[in-house]
Formats: sequence, C-alpha cells, structure tokens
Amino acid sequence: MARLEQQKQPKPLSTDDTAAEKAMTFADLGLSPKVLSAVTDAGYTIPTPIQAGAIPHALLGKDVLGIAQTGTGKTAAFVLPMITRLEKGRARARMPRTLILEPTRELAAQVEENFVKYGKNHRLNISLLIGGVSFDEQDKKLERGADVLIATPGRLLDHRERGKLLLNGVEILVIDEADRMLDMGFIPDIERICEMIPFTRQTLFFSATMPPEITKLTEKFLHAPVRVEVARAASTNTSITQRLVKAGRKPWDKRQALRDIIRAEEDTLKNAIIFCNRKIEVSELFRSLVKHDFDAGALHGDMDQRARMAMLSSFRDGKLKFLVASDVAARGLDIPDVSHVFNFDVPIHAEDYVHRIGRTGRAGKSGKSFTLVTKADQKYLDAIEKLIGQDIEWHGGDLSTLVVSEESDEAPRRGRGDKRSGDKRGSDRRSREPRGRSAREPAPTVTAAEPSDEIAPVAKEARAERRRAEEPAQRREAIRNDNAVRKEMNRKPEQRRARPDHDGDDHPVLGFGNDMPAFMTVAGKV
Ligand code: AMP
Repeated sequence: MARLEQQKQPKPLSTDDTAAEKAMTFADLGLSPKVLSAVTDAGYTIPTPIQAGAIPHALLGKDVLGIAQTGTGKTAAFVLPMITRLEKGRARARMPRTLILEPTRELAAQVEENFVKYGKNHRLNISLLIGGVSFDEQDKKLERGADVLIATPGRLLDHRERGKLLLNGVEILVIDEADRMLDMGFIPDIERICEMIPFTRQTLFFSATMPPEITKLTEKFLHAPVRVEVARAASTNTSITQRLVKAGRKPWDKRQALRDIIRAEEDTLKNAIIFCNRKIEVSELFRSLVKHDFDAGALHGDMDQRARMAMLSSFRDGKLKFLVASDVAARGLDIPDVSHVFNFDVPIHAEDYVHRIGRTGRAGKSGKSFTLVTKADQKYLDAIEKLIGQDIEWHGGDLSTLVVSEESDEAPRRGRGDKRSGDKRGSDRRSREPRGRSAREPAPTVTAAEPSDEIAPVAKEARAERRRAEEPAQRREAIRNDNAVRKEMNRKPEQRRARPDHDGDDHPVLGFGNDMPAFMTVAGKV
C-alpha cells in the first residue's frame, strides 16, 4: 500500500503564495458581474486553488479534469462558471441544458444549495433527480425545462427510461466525486449516460483520487482536458490532534470508554461526529447516547432521505451536538466546524480513517480525533499508521495499559463484528518497534492527508447504498418504516428514559426491543 504523503493545505491564495497569486481575486477569473456579486455576498473574495485553476478554463468551454476533494471549494469551481455560461440561452421542456452527476442524494442536495446561493441573481430552473422522492414532482420540474439538472445516476436513468427526459440538449456535463462513483459501482451507469449526451458538450470531471478505472473513464470521455490538481483542504495550517483510546472489546465497555472521553473533552468539544463501522452499531450507539442524555442524532444508509437531510441540517445548524454516522453516510459531506471526530470502531479500511478525521480541522480550524482501540483492532491500527506514516499517540500516553487490561478480557472469539479477533499479526504492541521514534514519544500533531490512488475498495455499505438508491418504492417504504432511529428522535427525553428496554447497565437491547419495524407487523402472504 502506498504511503500517504503529507500534502499542502489548499487555502485561499492570499495566505502565503506568490505575489501574482496573491493578487488574484474572483474578479480576475472572468465570471459575470451577477455571479461575482453573489460570490461577494457569500463572503468570498479569494478563490481557492481549484477555483483559480479551473474557473478560467471552464469559462472558455474547455474540458477540465479536477483532482480535488470536498473541502477544497471544488463545488464552486464548477458551479460559478456554469452559472456564468448559462446566462446565454434558455431551457426547453424535458431537455436540461446542464447535468451534474453526484454519487449520493446528500451530495446532490449540497450542490443544489450551491446553485441557489451563487445563482441568487439569476432565474435558474434547477431540478434535483434523486431517489426517495416521488417521480411526479420531478417530472413536473423537468417538464418546465431545467437549466441545471442535478442527479444520482440511477434515478436519472429511470427518468430517461420512462421517456421523461432527453439528454441531447446537455451543453455542460459535470461528473463529481468520480472515485466515489467507482466505489459505489456506478461507473457502467456513468458510461451509459456519457454516451447519451452529444460529444460536443463540455465535460467537467472531478475526483479526489485517480485509480486506473477513473483514468480510463477520463481518457474515453474527456476531450483534451485541462488538468487541475490540488491537495486536500485542511492539511498544514489546520492541525488535527489524533489520539488512541484503549477500550474493552464488549460494546458496553466501548460505549463507556466513549462517554468517558467525551466528558473529558467537554471544555473544547463543540460538536462531534462519531463513526461506527456498521449501521447496526450506529443505531445502537445512538440509542445508548440518547439514553445517557447526550444530544445525539444518527446518519446511516438505511434511513430515508427526509430523515437523513433533517438529521444533517440539525447537526450543521448546531441543534445536535453529536452525529453518529457510518462511513458511507458521512463521506464527502461538507460539514463545517466539527471540533471532534470519534472513531467508535477502528475503520477496517485504513483510508477511511483519513476521510473520517478529515471531517474535523476544516477551513483553517484545528480539530481533534479520538479512536477507540481494542486488542482485536491491532492489525487495522497498524495499517492506518503505515498509511499515514506515523504512530498515533495514546491518550494519556499510557501504551502498556491496553495490553494489560486486554489480557484479562475474554478469549478472542469469532462472531458478529469480530472477524478479526483470531488475527495474531502485530497483536503485541509492546514488541513492535515504532517507526522512527520511541513508543512513548508523542506523535506530532498531524494533519489529514489524501488517501493513496491505489485504494478504491468496494465498501459493503457503499454497495448497499447503491442498491438502496435504486430500490423500488415498496421496498423504500418498508425501510422507511424500519426507522428505529427516527422514532427514537421523535420521543421526548422523558419517554426515552422511561423505556423498559433501556435498563441501567446499558447492555444492548436484544432483537428490536420497542422498535419493531412497522413493516414486520404487517400481515404478509403465507
Ligand atoms: P466544497 O469543497 O465545494 O465542498 O467547499 C468546501 C467549503 O468551502 C464550503 O463550505 C464552501 O462554502 C467554502 N468555500 C468555497 N469557496 C471558498 C472560498 N473561495 N473561500 C473560502 N471558502 C470557500
């Protein structure tokens, strides 16, 4: 596995770049006065590197290959020139003028917000085609003619197959988060869509990494693209202090360890995302935190779209302090100002660690991450430390206690969520020579770096997410009913405490407890 390089933080060009770059403002990029005015109203004067690099070329109608990820300002890098170019011409019924493909509904909605913000001086018809929303509403908007169509691939193809959408009027195509599309198995859909759009179009293509499949795609569908590559946001100016926290393997021990560290961090903790490896853990941990009076919400792939968006905006608006999330639900989302990230589970894929901790320390702020580690996590921890090229310091600096306490733990056991327990590799942390410095020497405060190009695992949950995006209405309805998380959120705090399945010792609820999904109570055919 390739080592990550510590990369330079992309930042507004004003801070420490060359004199020429320092002089650059949005006004120098060639954007229209109406767009510039909206940018000024948004409070931005200095373009980020991806904006400075991509916008002038995009305005000239050239294809752009942007290698950048969320947090670098890449959305505005395509939205601003698109709005400028859309000032000429009009949309026709069922023939959108531009198309933006996004891997998830949340990202699609985020892009829509950007069009609303930067298009405030324009009368743009914007259509959002995402799953989990009725076709009728979307049909009506298409019928009116869309200047901007933002879609997830599955729903877009559904509309096309229903004959409600013609793609031969698309002048600008944006493929965003391409490597994420690859993770989610969307590449064949993307290829189909590209083939449906006239080759005279302009294509703006963005990906955080460039695995071979993505390179192939760009070779096939981009025409002499201008390549703009930037390092990820929040790397050098913004520090993320990373710590490991020892924890017992039992879920209630881990939950206790999490509560302890949250309380210990109280003074500096503004808000936090807590990552779990599995959806079931997201639900369990969320319920446990609520029971312990933490102001928590949850985000995972089985929640319906409305609940996901509501949860996300509550967290963004500061109404929720803790968001318990799975990787797929949270990846790529722009959630500014997160002070802490907690890894309730050590991520199985090392690069997920980089993505997770990158949720904090954004936009020039500092952040902290704490990762709960059990003995069974050793090989995953080793992989992470290898990937980021450093050892992570233990919280409290006490390395040995992890092993001592875990020795008294029950014997390793294979079972749910414990596939890795039989692994012996690297299981004795004391015997391992730390790379480049003594085990007790603290790791420097480091920053998130870009995952290596060669890592593009097909995450299980990502596949589930894709299936979900394309599920028929009845199935979605069943999932909607199975929304234990939402039910819990709707309960008043006093009701939550009164629930009989929440006994005092915080042991997990067996079965569904009080949260029997409604679809299971519906009589079926026998
Ligand atoms: P994105 O990478 O598009 O998800 O953007 C990350 C964040 O940066 C968003 O909250 C944007 O509003 C913000 N942003 C975009 N452009 C700029 C800029 N030129 N200066 C400062 N912040 C920006």
